[in-house]
Amino acid sequence: MVMKVIPLKVRSGTGNVAAALFSGGPLADTRGRPLRDLRISVTDRCNFRCTYCMPREVFDAGYKFLPHDAILSFEEIARLARVFVGLGVEKIRLTGGEPLVRRDVPRLIELLAPLGVELTLTTNGSLLSKNAVLLKKAGLHRVTVSLDSLDDATFRAMNDADFPVAKVIEGIAAAAAAGLGPVKINMVVKRGVNDDGILAMAERWRGTGHIMRFIEFMDVGSTNGWRMDDVVPSAEVVRRISERWKLEPVGAN
Ligand code: SF4
Repeated sequence: MVMKVIPLKVRSGTGNVAAALFSGGPLADTRGRPLRDLRISVTDRCNFRCTYCMPREVFDAGYKFLPHDAILSFEEIARLARVFVGLGVEKIRLTGGEPLVRRDVPRLIELLAPLGVELTLTTNGSLLSKNAVLLKKAGLHRVTVSLDSLDDATFRAMNDADFPVAKVIEGIAAAAAAGLGPVKINMVVKRGVNDDGILAMAERWRGTGHIMRFIEFMDVGSTNGWRMDDVVPSAEVVRRISERWKLEPVGAN
């Protein structure tokens, strides 16, 4: 029997999914914390080459992505999702690569919608304008958009695909208009690359109802040349913003 594979991520500490599946009990990690969020990567491909994630030197024309017949079909994903929901999962997040480069993702959403759990999608926003209404109609609840800079030149350099920032901003507006809000906006902050845009980003989205999140540049393995010098700690982000505006704690969401 050939077993199909998909980059499939499960969150909540270090969950012992296999053990839970075999025992048939609710999913929990080794500390007994319930596992409620499931991330499903629908593709390992992306139309961007963000330097901190899929650097072009590694993910070049010769890079071997998963062959199409090794990726789970939408029906298989839905079946797997149903099993996880039966084990206590309450929220499913679709990710990639870039999930919207996979054809007909709204059809997958339609298959997942009857499960009655929260459905969200993380995207680079490049294909959101043309998909937002279809995704909403299919049953998606919210989107998270990665946006590293409002400065077009910086944004194009960081996505290394010469993709203009205006199109992503259009995508965020389309998502909000389609009812996929509040949109979460993630900015990966890299010192000397885009950290000079922290205040501009805060200013652009404050008061819009969207949720702005500043993410520390993380080591994602051995491919992105991570160095501590490139990290802007979150405490520094908070300090810089609080020098401009008064900050107040908000509840977890
Ligand atoms: S858009 Fe997302 S998945 Fe694609 S290269 Fe950038 S960080 Fe990675």
